[in-house]
Amino acid sequence: MTNKLKLSRIGILGRPTLPMHKLHQLNFANRYAHLPEHFYSRVNPTPLPAPYLVSFNTHAARLIDLDSDEARRADFAEHFGGNRLPPDVEPLAMLYAGHQFGQFVPQLGDGRAILLGELTNRAGEHWEVQLKGSGVTPYSRRGDGRAVLRSSIREYLCSEAMHALGIPTSRALCIVGSDEPVYRETAETAAVLTRLAPSHVRFGSFEVFFYRGQYEHIAALADFVIARHYPEFSEASDKYRLFLKEITSRTAKLMAHWQTVGFCHGVMNTDNMSILGLTLDYGPFGFMESYDPGYICNHSDPQGRYAYDQQPQVGLWNLSCLAQALSRLVSEADTDKILESYAPAYYQHYVALMGAKLGLLNPTLEDFPLIDGWLTLLQKNQLDYTNSFRNLDNFDSAASADNHALRDQFIDREAFDAWAESYRARLGRESGTDSERKARMDAVNPKYILRNYLAQVAIEKAENQRDFSEIDRLLALLNKPYDEQPEMEDYAAPPPESARRIMVSCSS
Ligand code: AMP
Ligand code: MG
Repeated sequence: MTNKLKLSRIGILGRPTLPMHKLHQLNFANRYAHLPEHFYSRVNPTPLPAPYLVSFNTHAARLIDLDSDEARRADFAEHFGGNRLPPDVEPLAMLYAGHQFGQFVPQLGDGRAILLGELTNRAGEHWEVQLKGSGVTPYSRRGDGRAVLRSSIREYLCSEAMHALGIPTSRALCIVGSDEPVYRETAETAAVLTRLAPSHVRFGSFEVFFYRGQYEHIAALADFVIARHYPEFSEASDKYRLFLKEITSRTAKLMAHWQTVGFCHGVMNTDNMSILGLTLDYGPFGFMESYDPGYICNHSDPQGRYAYDQQPQVGLWNLSCLAQALSRLVSEADTDKILESYAPAYYQHYVALMGAKLGLLNPTLEDFPLIDGWLTLLQKNQLDYTNSFRNLDNFDSAASADNHALRDQFIDREAFDAWAESYRARLGRESGTDSERKARMDAVNPKYILRNYLAQVAIEKAENQRDFSEIDRLLALLNKPYDEQPEMEDYAAPPPESARRIMVSCSS
């Protein structure tokens, strides 16, 4: 009967899997540490007193082929609290500058983050491993080098939520806590977040050398980033132009993602802008709840420089800072052309993403009035951004349908009727059934987002009771943002009145 053994039978048995790595098998390299020392300072993490594990993310562990059982080791927190370093690591803090709220600050750098090095997984992907909150560095200025548990929980949950929403972002492996007091507006406790990203290089990593007039370092860093992350440009005679063009297009796409999911970053300084187009450095971010284009999530930004509706143009402004730093490498004419391509690229992504949220198969720029009309309705009726898109999946496109369940959510029902008429007409120009459209819409309109009040519950339980279960519950929930999770229905609710418009402090 051996001739009946077919290769396809493997499908039932599953693929053979290789065992994951134990901690001591993680093989750290650090190519950044092999750049000349103008780019960083070598520094060891400061040990975290009596560290304990707060949360461990098995999804991120897979990125570095780490066996999740390792999180149960008694000494795990020592390793990721920065107390025990793997052999041969070359820890460092990266140097950068940045435009902060429009002002150039010539000397910043990782003031509380330490890059341990990078791990290469079996798929050949490189992941830099950074400990955030791991003590002072030469760039700490007057800071204490620490991060508080509250902000570490927020970054941990949000970066994983963004990833599950399909938005490029740094990832988060674990949080290690300590009872060491850290003073912000009040006394809090310290935590170290282990962050993973292919690169933590920022726009400001280039700007620092432009203002020092050290143009050779700009070229060296650009060569390093291109070789590692944009190898397809390495051999081109115009590699720096291609690099600027690519980061411009990635940033335009990232901004379209943020806008369409209602994410507000809060501190879009150029030192927080990733050279790979990732969402980076989560601070006082917020997901918009009732739709308000002027939404400000950061209470240290009363002018609203980084308000929700400013983000796309700030993305361009930040790119112009990067372009200035690269001005010896890319001609002015090329730079102008690249920066001019930002707005069309942004709108193209925006319309594709927003059109998909409305269930359109072939959205075009001509659908702008339909999209805007919907957003205006949400704003005037102060409706929840996320839930309104999700509920629209039930829209009945039949001419006779009055869509009363949807309609009843609007104070101005006539305005809803008028918009519904144009939506119905637009849907009529597409093929497919309402149920097909519903399935498409449910796959792109999240049911669950990281609402501030949900994060706050997890934070308070962790701070007051040392109960970390809510963090894990939210992590699991937000990992499947599009799925109906009936037992978690309450987590889709808009915030209670008392928790509306939480603004988050910049001090983290
Ligand atoms: P952020 O606004 O969090 O991106 O931080 C801006 C700069 O301040 C970065 O260079 C940080 O590394 C640094 N920084 C923020 N908080 C601290 C802290 N507690 N200790 C030292 N440096 C910090
Ligand atoms: Mg930062």
